[in-house]
Amino acid sequence: MANGYDVVVIGAGTGGYVAAIRAAQLGLKVAVVERQRALGGTCLIWGCIPTKALLEHAHALKIAQSAKEWGLAGIDPSGVRIDMPSVHARKDKMITGLTGGIEMLFKKNKVDWIKGTAKLTGGCNVEVTLHDGTKQSLTATKELIIATGSAARSVPGIETDGKKIIFSDEAIHLPEVPKTIAVMGSGAVGVEFASIFRSYGSEVTIIELLPRLVPGEDEAISSELEKNFKRRGIKSFTATKVTSAKAGARGVEIEMTSGEPAKPQKLTVDILLVATGRGPVTEGLGIEALGLETDRGYIVVDETFRSNVPGISAIGDVITMGGPHYQLAHVSSMEGIVLAERIAGHTVQPLNYDHVPRGTYCEPEIGSVGLSESQAKEKGYDVRVGSFPFKALARARMAAETDGFVKIVADKKYDEVLGVHIIGPRATELIAEAVLALRLECTVEELIKTIHAHPTMSEAVGEAAHAAHGAAIHI
Ligand code: FAD
Repeated sequence: MANGYDVVVIGAGTGGYVAAIRAAQLGLKVAVVERQRALGGTCLIWGCIPTKALLEHAHALKIAQSAKEWGLAGIDPSGVRIDMPSVHARKDKMITGLTGGIEMLFKKNKVDWIKGTAKLTGGCNVEVTLHDGTKQSLTATKELIIATGSAARSVPGIETDGKKIIFSDEAIHLPEVPKTIAVMGSGAVGVEFASIFRSYGSEVTIIELLPRLVPGEDEAISSELEKNFKRRGIKSFTATKVTSAKAGARGVEIEMTSGEPAKPQKLTVDILLVATGRGPVTEGLGIEALGLETDRGYIVVDETFRSNVPGISAIGDVITMGGPHYQLAHVSSMEGIVLAERIAGHTVQPLNYDHVPRGTYCEPEIGSVGLSESQAKEKGYDVRVGSFPFKALARARMAAETDGFVKIVADKKYDEVLGVHIIGPRATELIAEAVLALRLECTVEELIKTIHAHPTMSEAVGEAAHAAHGAAIHI
């Protein structure tokens, strides 16, 4: 006989586990089917958490390498290097702690974890193949939530082998620092790994098809990152297409072309990291038999996450609302909360995807929200811009992190803040103020009147607002 629940969630990533906890808080009986041996999905096991752990080691290394400047006695900077086994041990400890924390939260909220692989069998019924091979049936009486996430994917003609041509899933476990590494794709994942491995001592080359690095960001951010990466010795080939990559005894032989007429170039590296994007995970789930509408493999949902099949909703990396969808942990979690509240009978408002913060955790960090300068102009706004460089900020000087700036894009007519773009120290933290500013339809004047504590990095946001009115104090 099937086990009955109000809500059955498939997938315990940041979308699924948060939806489950919120639904349980609201009094619903919830089961989560997860096939991995730990809860947390991509973010905790292969994504946000391991990469940021690796980045923290890069930061520690940088301090040790400049021990003299920091007055650290007893360290020979020339001998300081990264010790990969210790790095992995610490990273894995972080992951175990955090995934175990979700297990505890499940217990606290009486959410059942069904350990196995789910398949939809019609209506709101699910068949789970448990880890020991036995089957278990589940029924969701109120809603079935698909939160099966995404997996890395390559581009036609470039195949990974998991050893020399790899995805980020393997990059987080590399047993030693590669002497040379090429990164294909300069989105958030690509530039984060480029930054990590450069800090660890690799020779790094980025190959990007589009004309600039981090092509989703404001143009000024891309230029600043390119300048910084160049200074750090990271080579970048933009407007360049990888046409072939072959792993052999000497490493990976890469062929690429750029320009008109196409100019072929060759590069040989120890490792090629393919960071060209991710695709939905629905294989074997049985969505085709149920007639679930998909678009390029993504499950099509409306603004409160209903699929075209009654009783089945989907959230997170696996969905589309008709176009590209942010594949970010915090987006999936917020979707989980909204969906759980809708299932529990609350009136919910659709999320405003124009206010999603984007974090790119390379060095220097990038945090952004809202429209870029060119997007605002394309939308017809009479745009006003204000920028403030971190080099003019006391706190940034104390931290010896003076690269980058805060840029505010605003509408001249009503003074409304349309976008904020930060590259520099703590950018991914500083962006929170900007997200709230956009949500509250804040004006530049209101940001100017907001008192920022001194000495903090956040003063750069206030100063950029002043600059947008032509009145920055410290430049
Ligand atoms: P997932 O986290 O992918 O979870 C889906 C879960 O479903 C998985 O655990 C999977 O095992 C399970 N599953 C799938 N099919 C089945 C089935 N049939 N039966 C049972 N279980 C199943 N985002 C950020 O916001 N910040 C970052 O810093 C960040 N860094 C990243 C770095 C990297 C290298 C990568 C790859 C991603 C990063 N992301 C980051 C993106 C973030 O990890 C994802 O957006 C987020 O994990 C999506 O959550 P999800 O719940 O939709 O899916």
